[in-house]
Amino acid sequence: MDDHSLDRLGDEIAQLSAHLDAATARLLDLIREFDERKGWNNGFRSCAAWLTWRVGLDPGAARERVRVARALGSLPAVARALACGEISYAKVRAITRVATPETEERLLAVARAGTAAHVERIVRGWRRVDRLAEARESARQHARRGLHVYQDEDGMVVVRGRLAPEVGALLLQALDAAREKLYQQARAVRTFDDSPEDAQEDPPTMAQQQADALALIAETALHHGLDPGTPGERYQVVVHVDAAVLADPDQPGQSVLEDGPRVSAETSRRLACDASRVVMRHDRDGRLLEVGARTRTIPPALRRALLHRDRGCRFPGCGLPFGQGHHVRHWAEGGPTTLSNLALLCRRHHRAVHEEGYRVVGQADSALEFRLPNGRPLLEVPPAPGTPADPVEALRAANDAQGLRIDARTAASGWLGEPLDVGWAIDVLHPLAAGRG
Ligand SMILES: [Zn+2]
Ligand SMILES: [Zn+2]
Repeated sequence: MDDHSLDRLGDEIAQLSAHLDAATARLLDLIREFDERKGWNNGFRSCAAWLTWRVGLDPGAARERVRVARALGSLPAVARALACGEISYAKVRAITRVATPETEERLLAVARAGTAAHVERIVRGWRRVDRLAEARESARQHARRGLHVYQDEDGMVVVRGRLAPEVGALLLQALDAAREKLYQQARAVRTFDDSPEDAQEDPPTMAQQQADALALIAETALHHGLDPGTPGERYQVVVHVDAAVLADPDQPGQSVLEDGPRVSAETSRRLACDASRVVMRHDRDGRLLEVGARTRTIPPALRRALLHRDRGCRFPGCGLPFGQGHHVRHWAEGGPTTLSNLALLCRRHHRAVHEEGYRVVGQADSALEFRLPNGRPLLEVPPAPGTPADPVEALRAANDAQGLRIDARTAASGWLGEPLDVGWAIDVLHPLAAGRG
């Protein structure tokens, strides 16, 4: 092959790469919209988990796509440059780690002038400056944490505080859970006791609910000796069985879960899946004959075997490496507690199959079939979308139709081979760098 045809080949590579980068920009736009409109929120933990399942990306690449897609939402100049095929996805991936609306033009200039390796080094230096600033900021926040509790003149206790962001998130989560619990209790009470005065009473304000929730959190914490406990021991179910029925385990409906007044039947079945269990035997007249010892519905050895076999949540596209044991056929319906009738599901997906209408059916050799609430199968690997006979031509045509003019020089960097002084570059570029006021 002569030099001339090699040049053409190189141009072809550069041109098609720019086309692919332009198409990637559109792909990221679609991902951002899908993410914002929560299109993944039909059984998947996150947009990245959905991408892993639907598109076949590895989890790291999927998270990266979602991160970059979100970042580009507030970086219009960088987004435009990628959409025109002027800078590569690799460069965009690097600068979106640090760029803000204030600094994107400067970093875009770096991306245009330098190679991907230059950009990577600049971004690393930039992050060091950011991290120092962040460390100073978080030390400042940490030092300013505090909780003031004092009694007002009228005897009420006033609470005022500043919490570190992650501690604040924990508190908000606990308040949410406690409010939900109180709301469920209030609803249960209303159904049993429908007095007319209650109906006329104003519902508590958000602030009042938060105050009640904080009281429940405090009570619960003290009651449990401030011990958060281990997952399997948090729930205990009481099972009432008829002695006659217990003798014949093949009889359907042999066990009845005690009605939990606080949670729905579906929720109590979920909690019972993986919990401590006490069996109470009754005679024909309903008299209590015997109270069995407290046992775990899934004994520890079996749980270890389950963890070893499943390694993570079995829900398609999830794989979270910890979770709860789910009886594919519930033990209350006579499903055996054996490895072949168990599946590991994360908390999110355990709820999905009990309370949200998702179905899971056991197949031969521990394979599982999942179905959406509408009955459609949820495949482990979805079928590939149809692609045009000549995908490259279709891509070019689509980019042309967008009015893009892409050629072999579109994505070329302005670098002429001079050495890169990262320290100097950061000093010039970064708003917080030492050299700048
Ligand atoms: Zn379950
Ligand atoms: Zn899961």
